[in-house]
Amino acid sequence: MTHARRTGVAAALACALLLSPAVAVPAHAAPAAAAVALPHGTTAVLAGAATSPSAPVPPRDPRNIGVLVNKTHPLSPKSYVPRGLVRVQGHRLRAEPARALKAMMAAARKAGAPLVTVSGYRSYATQKALFARYSRLYGVAYASRISARPGYSEHQTGLTMDVGAAHGGCRLGTCFGNTKAGRWVAANAWRYGYIVRYPRGQEKVTGYSYEPWHLRYVGVKISTAMKKAKIPTLEHYYGQVRRG
Ligand SMILES: [Zn+2]
Repeated sequence: MTHARRTGVAAALACALLLSPAVAVPAHAAPAAAAVALPHGTTAVLAGAATSPSAPVPPRDPRNIGVLVNKTHPLSPKSYVPRGLVRVQGHRLRAEPARALKAMMAAARKAGAPLVTVSGYRSYATQKALFARYSRLYGVAYASRISARPGYSEHQTGLTMDVGAAHGGCRLGTCFGNTKAGRWVAANAWRYGYIVRYPRGQEKVTGYSYEPWHLRYVGVKISTAMKKAKIPTLEHYYGQVRRG
């Protein structure tokens, strides 16, 4: 997501913070569907329950690598702390996604598109402090557009890593998608169980602007199924998107 008023620091943090409390609708409290107001005046209709009978049911347990976290699906419990976090270049992930990320980074390096880690696990407390900081700096309304209250960030799952190109700029910028590293990631992350979680053109579904650097581990079973069927987002995969 981009915004003219955003500072570099805000831009760097925005993707990790996610979700506005004002638009969070607990899935179990939603009727058939919930109209969700998104930043920049857009609106999406996300189903409160799976609308496609053939779609897998989204796991609610954050220990499940397939867990769905978005505006209608907070972590449960919101204070969840993943176990067994390990560091990849100083940024934390759970063990399984860390192993996969290391393999992916080795392959990227071999392909001449070396990657670095930029931001991984963020705790509930970190999220809380950041949201409070944004609220002080910008007011709650604007803070809510660029960050999230704790419990609504995918980074809190320990399954998400922001990556950047090892050489050159474009860290946490959409221009990363045009770098050799960004193109390599878009084409190959699925092989390692990762998806680009907020793809271009899916803002109304995911609630977030294009973030070519934000990689979410879902495991190779899901990432391969999505790749083969050309399923653009996790919301589509879980049948959470209502057409029309
Ligand atoms: Zn991110």
